Amino acid sequence: MAIVIVDDTIFSLEVIKAFLIKEGYLDVITVKSARELYELVDGYSDRGMVEIDLILMDIIMPDIDGIEACRSIKKREWLADVPVIMVTATTEKDNLQLAFSAGAMDFIKKPLERVELVARVRSALRLKHETARRKARETELLEVTRQLQAANERLQHLTFLDGLTGIANRRHFDEELLQESRRAKRDKTPLSLIMLDIDYFKAFNDTYGHLKGDDCLKIVTSTLKKTLKRPGDLLARYGGEEFAVVLPNTDEVGAAVIAEELRTSIESAGIVHINSLCADYVTVSLGVVTRCPEQDETPDAMILAADRALYRSKHEGRNRVSSDANTEI
Ligand code: GH3
Ligand code: MG
Ligand code: MG
Repeated sequence: MAIVIVDDTIFSLEVIKAFLIKEGYLDVITVKSARELYELVDGYSDRGMVEIDLILMDIIMPDIDGIEACRSIKKREWLADVPVIMVTATTEKDNLQLAFSAGAMDFIKKPLERVELVARVRSALRLKHETARRKARETELLEVTRQLQAANERLQHLTFLDGLTGIANRRHFDEELLQESRRAKRDKTPLSLIMLDIDYFKAFNDTYGHLKGDDCLKIVTSTLKKTLKRPGDLLARYGGEEFAVVLPNTDEVGAAVIAEELRTSIESAGIVHINSLCADYVTVSLGVVTRCPEQDETPDAMILAADRALYRSKHEGRNRVSSDANTEI
């Protein structure tokens, strides 16, 4: 980390350099003009692009003066935090004003006093190091914040998924149904909901064990998922062996067709269930409800109606579809 002295007078360069070296600042570079300084900082000089801690700059120099040079240095993004101290024979207010507005942080009067020079250099370097430390801390904090946000997103994602089947859980379903019922009202489109429950699943667990029961739930999930083709449809695990399907922009006829497709797909999956009382394979019972835009109904009321229809399917022998429309209350 170097201190750079810019001065067109060799004598000044040597005096400042000697003061600094005596004080223990050994990496001192002297340049005789603003152009040489630019070459140094832009990497075109023998020393290449050096890391600079501080620049001591003479104001009065031929060609490009110190004020102009300071302004130009401050425009370079990687040097913006490097303090520039003006070394000047004039202490005219106007000149100093110009120097400060060009980005200089301090000034030292010529002829130079060793004590003053050293004190000012020391405080400029301290400020530079403080700034660097603060910036590093800010970068660190930004990185920690970014990691926290990513972890939060992952967590958020997990809180919406069912652990066993990987599909939406009850919480996600509740939110989606609410959103979709609002959207249906706004867009004046029908909205359908199917509740679906595995038949005699307790007997399945009792016969084959809980682990096979879990496997069965996974197969049922993937079968239902394959059967639902529209990207807007949402399949969720509502509870134990109960599933829910939200079907946006789907009327009564469409919903009944999809429900029947879901029923057939599970039946044809052929998951053997010797203790089912309604088939040799695992089957499901379904309840369907459709709400037209003019029917002002809460999501809870829709769930209740679909559940009623599902109960009717169970009551009438299972492995079938009932709709809310033909369910007597
Ligand atoms: P029905 O045809 O009337 O629906 O009868 P059912 O036996 O399916 O219904 P019931 O509500 O009596 O039993 C549901 C069973 O589902 C009981 C419970 O042990 C089982 N179950 C719920 N969640 C899970 C799960 O995550 N894994 C497994 N293996 N079984 C589950
Ligand atoms: Mg069941
Ligand atoms: Mg059940």
